[in-house]
Amino acid sequence: MQMITGHFLNGEKIPRIAVIIVLIMMIIVMTAGCGYINRISEKNQITNNSVEDEQQSQVVLVGNKPCTYVLKSGAETDNGYYEVIPWPYEMYSSNSPWIHIGNIVYTDYETHTRNYLCNVPGCSHNTEDCTSFISYSNAIVLFSDKSQQHLYIMELGATDGEIYTNKDIGCLYVSDMSGANRTQLIKLDSLSAFSTTDPIFSDDNNLYVCIERFNGSEITKDLCKVSIDAGIIKDSIELSSGEMLLGNIGKNDFLVVNYDRFPVIEYETISFNNKEKTVIATADNDFSHLLTNNLLAQVIENDGKKELLVTNLNDDSVQVYSSLPQDSAGGIDIYDAHEDKLHWGYIDQTEEQNKVEYYVDLDNGEYTEKKLGFLSIGAWNTVRIISETNDKYMVTRDMHWTSLSLIDQEGMVHVYDYLAPQYALIRCDDYWANKEIYEDIKDYVSG
Ligand SMILES: [Zn+2]
Repeated sequence: MQMITGHFLNGEKIPRIAVIIVLIMMIIVMTAGCGYINRISEKNQITNNSVEDEQQSQVVLVGNKPCTYVLKSGAETDNGYYEVIPWPYEMYSSNSPWIHIGNIVYTDYETHTRNYLCNVPGCSHNTEDCTSFISYSNAIVLFSDKSQQHLYIMELGATDGEIYTNKDIGCLYVSDMSGANRTQLIKLDSLSAFSTTDPIFSDDNNLYVCIERFNGSEITKDLCKVSIDAGIIKDSIELSSGEMLLGNIGKNDFLVVNYDRFPVIEYETISFNNKEKTVIATADNDFSHLLTNNLLAQVIENDGKKELLVTNLNDDSVQVYSSLPQDSAGGIDIYDAHEDKLHWGYIDQTEEQNKVEYYVDLDNGEYTEKKLGFLSIGAWNTVRIISETNDKYMVTRDMHWTSLSLIDQEGMVHVYDYLAPQYALIRCDDYWANKEIYEDIKDYVSG
């Protein structure tokens, strides 16, 4: 029996992506200064009135959701949540050290079950015939589209242009929501890769994904509009390597944060209607930021005091919340946002590395300490929202070591210690009120 740590945590395959995120966060933290945010007064208002807009349907965020504590690489739908569990390194390295193997696991909200995305009784889930089986290089992202009729499996491809196997070529597959009928939608060339950090969007007919292009030491990036039916890139907007998508605003504009003129950070809108980039705000210190419901939230420093600045991009109004509890030296991160609640926290230096987290109600500026948590492997963990449905969130309410049995392609059974998440549904109201009223999910993967 072998101990698997980290690698299996929360079913995420994160090392290289985690490094990128940490680097970005370091850059953001290094911007500490005494400046302030500058609004661009002649900002173009976001309107939905042009003829082109009316022909195009509303864009929604469907994948790689931005948040700072974990990469959301799973697919969310109204009915359930899809994620990848990678196999332990020892099991895939015998085939090829470059190719990872894993399974797609589905959590169904109605039946409160988590199981392999496979409906064949007795299946070992270890060959290409199984709808849950995947093999890939580097990293993989799952998402659905706006219609929630298709499951997309995005193999990112080599993010440095170095190709060792055919799995290093970025590929986007599409299947039914059951995992059946998996076909290739887009295959990149060897000098391209899907972006690991930019969110993915969808409207009724198209996906919007970022593709990086390698040209020697130079990396550029395109925001591409991909036809769901035809599997072709219909249009693209070139971004620099310092430009990152934050989210969508209005009907079909995108908000980009631009680090090219660092330490000045610029916020720009871009649109496929006219392909113009419009700078709507700049900041010379910005510890953390997030976009939710057309609200741009930023933690900034003003006269040595950290403040939460929330800009409503619909009408350009700015709200400053200066009554935040102050940390002594550590950073403040905005973790995620749900509806009108913004969730953020910092390390409280007065208590042994204890992370203190709050949520701010953006309606009235009131903040509440977030108390839902659990003790696991000697550490206190905050209960995290994994996905959301109509009136409930799916959260990780515990982590515990359990056994995971995997059968390799030669028929050998391998049993691993697996740090399994205990998923549960909780009503949104109860979550925000710190009430521990959970509906547990039965996990058939780890037993
Ligand atoms: Zn199977």
